[in-house]
Amino acid sequence: MPAAAVHYALLHFEKASTPMMIHASSKLSAALSGRRPPWRWLAVTLLMVLFFPTVLWLPWQAQRLESNERQEQLIADTLWVEQTIRFQLGRDEESISLLATEVASGQPGLKKFRERLLPVLRNSRELLRIDWLGPQGKLIYASNDIALPELGDSDTNLSSTAANNKIARYFLLPGRPGGTSSLLLYELPVFKGADYIGTLRASYSLSLLLEEMVPWWFAQDNEISIVDADDTLLTRRSAGGSGRGIYTHRRPLELPGVTLSLRTNSIKSAPKLLPNLLVGSVVLLSLGLLWSLWALWRDINRRIAAEVALRQQISFRTAMENSLLTGLRARDLTGRVTYVNPAFCQMVGIPAEQLVGMAPPMPYWAPEVMDAYQQRLSQVLQGKVAPQHETVFQRANGERFPVLIFESPLVDASGKQTGWMGSLLDISDRRRVEDLNRQQQEKLQASARLATMGEMASTLAHELNQPLAAISSYTTGALNLLEGEPDKIDTAMLKQALEKASAQAQRAGQIIRSVHTFVKKREPMRELVSLKTLIESVAPLIEMQARPFFVSMILNIRADLPPVLADRVLLEQVVLNLTRNAVEAMRDAASEKRMLRIVVRLDADTLPPQVIVEIIDRGHGIPDEVSERLFSPFFSTKAEGMGMGLNICRSAIEFHGGLLTHRHNPQGGTVFQFSLPASETA
Ligand code: ADP
Repeated sequence: MPAAAVHYALLHFEKASTPMMIHASSKLSAALSGRRPPWRWLAVTLLMVLFFPTVLWLPWQAQRLESNERQEQLIADTLWVEQTIRFQLGRDEESISLLATEVASGQPGLKKFRERLLPVLRNSRELLRIDWLGPQGKLIYASNDIALPELGDSDTNLSSTAANNKIARYFLLPGRPGGTSSLLLYELPVFKGADYIGTLRASYSLSLLLEEMVPWWFAQDNEISIVDADDTLLTRRSAGGSGRGIYTHRRPLELPGVTLSLRTNSIKSAPKLLPNLLVGSVVLLSLGLLWSLWALWRDINRRIAAEVALRQQISFRTAMENSLLTGLRARDLTGRVTYVNPAFCQMVGIPAEQLVGMAPPMPYWAPEVMDAYQQRLSQVLQGKVAPQHETVFQRANGERFPVLIFESPLVDASGKQTGWMGSLLDISDRRRVEDLNRQQQEKLQASARLATMGEMASTLAHELNQPLAAISSYTTGALNLLEGEPDKIDTAMLKQALEKASAQAQRAGQIIRSVHTFVKKREPMRELVSLKTLIESVAPLIEMQARPFFVSMILNIRADLPPVLADRVLLEQVVLNLTRNAVEAMRDAASEKRMLRIVVRLDADTLPPQVIVEIIDRGHGIPDEVSERLFSPFFSTKAEGMGMGLNICRSAIEFHGGLLTHRHNPQGGTVFQFSLPASETA
């Protein structure tokens, strides 16, 4: 995986996680992988199964309870009414019995009789009248003049029976339909010694009895009636309306001689289910519970899905961390190490347990570059981080190795920076390969230079031949001069001949030296180079190449060019290669076309400005299929060509941060162009 791709992956990795999170990832993954007990859902289902019948049973039970309560209340109230009636009748019996004693001790007379009974009648409104009957049942006194239904024979008989039995008892006088209301008679036979002297008779209106004895609040809620032993209705009170027959009660009202029953019938209907507050709240709560259960279930499902995704991601990341060859190191904002991956530990030869939690200076810092580390760390902690830099680390055994470090901020889920994440590449191997490559390249360039010289050998021989021949003829001339009369030797001419010979020898030496400098193997060396001077200095060599092919050369060099920072010899080699190719391309061209033009200009529109060199020929040009492979090593269309020239030229230009291109010459032939950044120090 390329370093940039790893770095990108790591950046994304960091965004979603903090170092602590990564650290805890193995624990979390273990916790997450724990299987949930299968009875968890069983328990929930069981609870639901129990819950719903309970919810349905509760309102029903509540209704039943209320119903029972109403019934019990009715029974208690009816009992209370019965007790009240019984108590009132008992009090009246006592008053009548007291009167009986008075009557037995002496006849009181009508006036006194009435006066005596006035308070009794006033206190008991249900008591209509009290009569004093003679021994034959004849009315002697009446407490008031309220008309009563005539007592029939059977009633008289009853009175006499009472007298015969000598006991007090009640009689019932049922009312007639549409006529009088039912009466209850109480008769107390009065004896003077053993002699029966008459009967005291109290007449009660049953309807008044209900009205007086039954409290209004009870009458409001209930229909209350008095029935006889045959269940015949004697009287009824229903102030609040007729009873509904849902809550009813029957209470016997046993009186001496008469059996009556008190019947109550509530006007209340059965408790309704929905208006019941309890039911309402239970239903509401159940719905709320159902909703929360559903929401909980949904939430749990979401969480489970998130957990699964998280688990997958954690396994994926753990695998990724462990398989990475790139070292990973996370540091908090104070520079303390919070995480390292296995590759990092392997790289520095220190276990993770020892590294995590460690603060600077780190054991993998090489002492000789300690200052640089400290400086970089303080820059990183200030947030001034260079995205990538190279440095040297030391392994546990003291071995140094070069590393390439990519540093980027570590951001937690809330977007807050928690530290820095660094990915580190051990570039020892890369360095070795680069060194090897460079050496190879240098060797190749040297060989290429030798090859160029080899190709130029005959031209060189020819070129050296000229000064040598000149030296030879000058020295011959000088010798000839010396062979004459010693006095007549023309010293001025001799001096001139020797000077010319010396100049030719220097020229030959110059040619040899330039060949030597060009060919000798050397390390690249950058210096400020003026391309004008450079091209002018190789111009003689170019001419040497051009002459055998009858190619003329035109230089078109701008005077005020800025220098470039370059290796002079490499550039000379490029120019010589390109011009040689250009000359060779014009080998078969018409004589008027054999023109090599070298243009050097400045492109000031770019930053930095570029010095442009164009080698323009009017040769056979480059077909498209050749154009595609032009820069491939060992590609040549020439029988004797090595095919390395353009490849070396391009490497050399790119080594200087420039660009080598070619295009068709509109006038026929090819234009090779290279650009080099102008030096800022110019
Ligand atoms: P060589 O010159 O040894 O063949 P080069 O790498 O210098 O190797 O050139 C590769 C090929 O590119 C040449 O064989 C030639 O076909 C083509 N070429 C290079 N320069 C020119 C040019 N100026 N005009 C036409 N063809 C060229």
